[in-house]
Amino acid sequence: MEQQLIKLLDNSLECTSCKIKNNQIILAIQSVKEKLSCPYCGCPSARVHSVYEREIQDILFQDKQTILLLTTRKMFCDNLDCT
Ligand SMILES: [Zn+2]
Repeated sequence: MEQQLIKLLDNSLECTSCKIKNNQIILAIQSVKEKLSCPYCGCPSARVHSVYEREIQDILFQDKQTILLLTTRKMFCDNLDCT
C-alpha cells in the first residue's frame, strides 16, 4: 500500500521501508532514476558523489505523524563547461 502511496506523490520514487515508531509512520523513500540531471546545466549523470538523507514531509495520517525520509544522491557533473 505504501508503495502505491509514494507513487502517487512522484512516480520516480519508491518506498524502501515503512516503520511505525512512537506513533509516527516513517516511510523511507528513494528515487528509482539511475541518472539525475545536474541542477545547473541539466546534463544527466550516474556518477554518485555522496548520499544523504533528507526529511521532506511531515503530514498527519489518521492522527499519526508521517515522515518521509528521502535518500538523496549528490552527483558529479561531467560537463566540463558547467560551473
Ligand atoms: Zn552541470
